[in-house]
Amino acid sequence: MISLGIEGTAWSLSIGVVDEKEVLLVENDPYIPKEGGIHPREAAQHHSERIGKLVKSVFSKIEPDKIDVISFSQGPGMGPCLRIVATAARVLSLKLEKPLIGVNHCLAHLEVGRWKTGAKNPVTLYVSGGNSQVIARRGKRYRVFGETLDIGIGNALDKLARHMGLKHPGGPKIEKLARNGKRYYELPYVVKGMDFSFSGMVTAAQKLFDNGISKEDVAFSFQETAFAMLAEVSERAMAYLDRDELLLVGGVGANSRLKEMLEVMCKDRKARFYSPPTELMGDNGAMIAYLSLLMFKHGYVTELKDSTVKPDFRIEEVDVSWE
Ligand code: AMP
Ligand code: MG
Repeated sequence: MISLGIEGTAWSLSIGVVDEKEVLLVENDPYIPKEGGIHPREAAQHHSERIGKLVKSVFSKIEPDKIDVISFSQGPGMGPCLRIVATAARVLSLKLEKPLIGVNHCLAHLEVGRWKTGAKNPVTLYVSGGNSQVIARRGKRYRVFGETLDIGIGNALDKLARHMGLKHPGGPKIEKLARNGKRYYELPYVVKGMDFSFSGMVTAAQKLFDNGISKEDVAFSFQETAFAMLAEVSERAMAYLDRDELLLVGGVGANSRLKEMLEVMCKDRKARFYSPPTELMGDNGAMIAYLSLLMFKHGYVTELKDSTVKPDFRIEEVDVSWE
């Protein structure tokens, strides 16, 4: 069975094709802002201008007849972007006469991570631009045990980078700078119960920079503080739920310092740490295709009338009957 998935919740426009064994194809045409951060309408404009070409390119490599399911990110994400992708998926589904599946974007990150690492029932740390959550499955539902109270960690890194004159996406640039950081400056460490918050930290870090602290030291101090918060909450969830697996997913999961800190924490607890290959970490079409395949095999389809986008779609809303 083969599924085609379209991702386009924010910056990434990506089509993936997977079968039960492997990722067959991924094609990307990302939106890169000329200046500033991601502008929802500009991103949607980009997606609408490029989606046709991307579909054509994919179908020059795989015959449309071979596809069994058409899927798309139904949410959460930026409304204008989601609508472009949903429209494209509906058109393909009607034209090719194949079933349509709208999937939850966060769940797709998580399930492709489990697929590629072999993690069974982990606590998952999902860290991306717009989202930051600690998630675990109990029975037939995934539940969010802790999450950001304001912005996602990726967003926070991007904002800080932008303030220091670096272009979007800032996460990888902050990572590089942090490697040469020499001195740690204290920043607000905000963990409230199982939740955390980053926007106060961003403001404080921006002030450090304005007061003449080097980019390297600011980046280093920011990473150490923010990642320690994420490690603390992940560890607390693992202890509370008595789980011995941690899975890291989402674009920020590409960061080697974050991985290193989580690895140390897991080793101390005699737990296993998992992270999928970097190309499947950030937003991509393959994860959408993979989740839809799993759902299709378990009887899920999305009727046209139910295919409207869900900008606030929560992972808890999905019944997980494949486990
Ligand atoms: P996603 O929304 O899952 O595609 O993730 C995008 C976010 O990941 C952006 O905010 C990027 O700045 C961030 N990101 C990508 N690579 C890295 C990295 N190596 N370290 C930190 N953040 C990163
Ligand atoms: Mg994402």
